[in-house]
Amino acid sequence: MKPSAQRMLAGAGVFVVVSLGLAFRTGLGTPASFGLGVFAAICPLAWIQEALASRSMTVPALIGITLVIAITVVLGRVWCGWLCPAQFVRRFLGGRGQAAKDQADKPTLDISMDPEEVQADVQRIVAGERKRVRRASIPEGSDSRYWVLLAVVISTFIFGVPVFCLICPIGLSVGLLIDLWRLIQYNEVTWTILVFPAIIVLEFVIFRRWCHTICPIGILYGLISRLNRTWRPQVDYRKCLRATGIDCKECVKSCPEGIDLHHPLDSADISVCTKCRECVAVCPGSAVSIPFLAKEFTPSSSDLSSHQDQPRR
Ligand code: SF4
Ligand code: SF4
Repeated sequence: MKPSAQRMLAGAGVFVVVSLGLAFRTGLGTPASFGLGVFAAICPLAWIQEALASRSMTVPALIGITLVIAITVVLGRVWCGWLCPAQFVRRFLGGRGQAAKDQADKPTLDISMDPEEVQADVQRIVAGERKRVRRASIPEGSDSRYWVLLAVVISTFIFGVPVFCLICPIGLSVGLLIDLWRLIQYNEVTWTILVFPAIIVLEFVIFRRWCHTICPIGILYGLISRLNRTWRPQVDYRKCLRATGIDCKECVKSCPEGIDLHHPLDSADISVCTKCRECVAVCPGSAVSIPFLAKEFTPSSSDLSSHQDQPRR
């Protein structure tokens, strides 16, 4: 099954869980959390906003956010790639591929050059990435989502209301589901049944790159997932077609986050990886994998020189 179909199924699972919560009144599935009764895995931004708006913090909320942080540290930014309802709207409206296109326009790392040079290049990249990870706590000012996040935090503190929740496409999507549920179960019609989808569509039409330029939830998950060390995609340079001289960019073109696994310094940081598996699925050389613990792959001269004998295309 294609990764996109798998993600569609996962998204449908969220839909089912929220619907079951509504049907059986378990407390499962509110606009910002999933859980049982007062205990719920809560959206990290909703948690921050609630705490700032109410100037207080409850124990269940603390447990909920701890759970979410733990899941994100282990699994990375899977929420954005597998569960967030906004990704389906984004895909439907065609705003998905811009980050990949931007990255694919950049030159590739030529691993068909002299093996010694490649080895030095890869080592430089690996060392550079370590440096980036060490700098992980320092937000990158060029990413507009950090500024949105800061604005949300400050405005919530000043006005005492969770500002972003009012326009959050995730909350609006779940809100719409609740409206539809009320319509079917109680024949109850509210004006939000039209307003919520209109706002969602407007957000993704006007801000086609919502997920990459606006969404503070995505960047918050990205910050937490800088601690993630498991299930990170890696390239086996011995299998990569670039080693044969082919200017392959399939993995780069497929990545919705604009990550070039060959260029960790010159592309989106690996911490924003949503584990969507698109890069694995498209690679013609089966060179990309997402192992539990990625090996730090540094090709040996012999690995690469074996490719030097192959015909260039
Ligand atoms: S898609 Fe596979 S073969 Fe092509 S550049 Fe990426 S890793 Fe290499
Ligand atoms: S690096 Fe691969 S798994 Fe990660 S977001 Fe990009 S395409 Fe998906």
